[in-house]
Amino acid sequence: LDRLRAFADELIGDSADSWDRAGTIPEEIVRKAGARGLMCAQVPERHGGLGLSSADNGELTAFVGSRCSSLRSLMTSQGMAAWTVQRLGDRKQRAALLPRLAGGEQAAVAFSEPGAGSDLSAMATRIEPDGDRVVVTGEKVWITAACYAEHLVVFGRYGDGTAAVVVPAHAEGVRVERVPEPLGCRAAGHARVRLDGVRVPAAEVLGGAGQSTELLVSTALAYGRMSVAWGCAGILRGALASVSRHARTRTQFGKPLAGHQLVARHVAELLAAEQTATRVCAHASHCWDTRSPEVVSATVLAKYVSSRHAAAGAATAVQVLASAGAQESHPVARAYRDAKLMEIIEGSNEICELLLAEHALSVHA
Ligand code: FAD
Repeated sequence: LDRLRAFADELIGDSADSWDRAGTIPEEIVRKAGARGLMCAQVPERHGGLGLSSADNGELTAFVGSRCSSLRSLMTSQGMAAWTVQRLGDRKQRAALLPRLAGGEQAAVAFSEPGAGSDLSAMATRIEPDGDRVVVTGEKVWITAACYAEHLVVFGRYGDGTAAVVVPAHAEGVRVERVPEPLGCRAAGHARVRLDGVRVPAAEVLGGAGQSTELLVSTALAYGRMSVAWGCAGILRGALASVSRHARTRTQFGKPLAGHQLVARHVAELLAAEQTATRVCAHASHCWDTRSPEVVSATVLAKYVSSRHAAAGAATAVQVLASAGAQESHPVARAYRDAKLMEIIEGSNEICELLLAEHALSVHA
């Protein structure tokens, strides 16, 4: 884990701000990260991955998230694609796809559509059998990593049920259109993806067709939520480091900012937020690693708690740095924009609240 952190540290260097401003991470960096196994480090060794536990992969994700939420977003998409293949794919599909993903071929995961955001039962994309092929037609929006991807894991209707199919991003009929000027994670390659009668071998439908939407979506989202939750712990670590440095070194009214009790309270609140996020993520990863049935609710809780703390904590960091942090792409300004988006994705916080309430009502009946 230390070696991977050192590798990520060297890879990112002090480039995150310039990647954010440019709206893209150099292809070479993404390739290097992929080839080293960083992007989906939980893939088992027998499939060519690093075989990290959820807890170690979480710490790695937090480290990258503390430096660059855009690169962390690519890790989330790649890991989510790999996990979807691992869970939903059959033996042949796992053997064919996982080594390629673990080796660095980038993937994106596409659920959302213009008419289907929180309510994925409204997905209108169609996956239709045609001999030994399937034909995919539909429109997906806000697909993270799509601008970098070689593979798109596309969810859509198949007969009376739902299916997930792996579509080559450069297949005929696929159009990837970058989302202009996203609020945050600006270099994460978000795109609208149009699929116009795209023909792929039926063997690319993961685990066969016509399964329940809830099962398919919740499988993929479980990984996505865990990864985002750890990424948010990382945002808080980055914010805490910026705030501590600034509060110790900037002097006003004859003493360092940290010497003013109202500023010290901000530092204390950030520490509490970072520790809370880390603990709730570590608990969810422990449930994942020990295959506890509690993993579903623990993962939703981790994403909910961490993203709320990250959004509030990043705002606090901008407050403490004040004019020093009030510039586009300054690390705390970037964290402020990036963290807000974490309250929206992988099931918005309102959807997480509904899931948590349902869980609480069933447990405490
Ligand atoms: P809506 O569903 O229209 O919701 C609008 C508001 O209403 C939200 O506050 C929501 O919480 C609330 N709301 C909706 N229904 C309810 C309800 N029943 N009860 C209470 N409140 C409710 N999608 C992908 O498929 N793949 C990706 O890789 C991906 N990456 C993304 C990255 C970013 C940065 C962003 C912003 C989005 C991404 N998305 C992706 C899309 C994301 O999953 C959706 O934005 C999210 O599910 C919310 O859907 P929506 O934006 O359509 O909001």
